[in-house]
Amino acid sequence: MAGERILVVEDEAAIADLVAEGLRRQGFRPEKVHDGDQALEMIETTRPDLVVLDLMLPGLDGWEICRRMKESPATKEIPVIMLTARRDERDVVAGLELGADDYLRKPFSLLELTARVKALLRRLRPSGEEGEFLQCGPLRLDIKGQEAFLDETPLNLSLTEYRILELLAKNAGRTVSRDELLARIWGLYGGDTRTVDVHIWRLRRKIEATPETPRLIETLRGRGYRLNRGGDLP
Ligand code: CA
Repeated sequence: MAGERILVVEDEAAIADLVAEGLRRQGFRPEKVHDGDQALEMIETTRPDLVVLDLMLPGLDGWEICRRMKESPATKEIPVIMLTARRDERDVVAGLELGADDYLRKPFSLLELTARVKALLRRLRPSGEEGEFLQCGPLRLDIKGQEAFLDETPLNLSLTEYRILELLAKNAGRTVSRDELLARIWGLYGGDTRTVDVHIWRLRRKIEATPETPRLIETLRGRGYRLNRGGDLP
């Protein structure tokens, strides 16, 4: 396991830096955010693989962020590790009741934190053979082999094109924003989203019968792209 995107929500810059550096050394891709409102916005637009969440924050506090994350279908699966400075057991219980997956009391060691992060990602990772193939209308994705087929014909996709298609297929029927694509495929936060449009165009030329009037990957103006679930296709 490596390369998972972890959002560190912590207003004390020194702690955030330390945590991010520790995670980076373990092969993760950390991002830092110091304010509660910004944190929720980042979680919603970029959907990190895991969130390390301090409880006492400017703006929305950690409990509120956790509550809103777990209420939204788009973010409720994202694992959360709470950081708490308080002695009060009720804080921890409240956090866990809101859906946090684990917690650490400050001060904690980096070793302890990275061990918990790894354990949580391992626990939540789907295991076994299930989910190896993903069918979406005429499209079929071989998740392990990173290959896509259209009506059983192999599509010659680049790795980036494949990864975009897989992300859209895993979210079929849901709009994925350009910012989210940019973050999850390229690891860029808030960059130029034309990169995304160019790749979508290339992808459409390979999978759509008529790329000018796409039926599989729909454009939702100002919102993003959505892969048709396949139910209403001819
Ligand atoms: Ca704090």
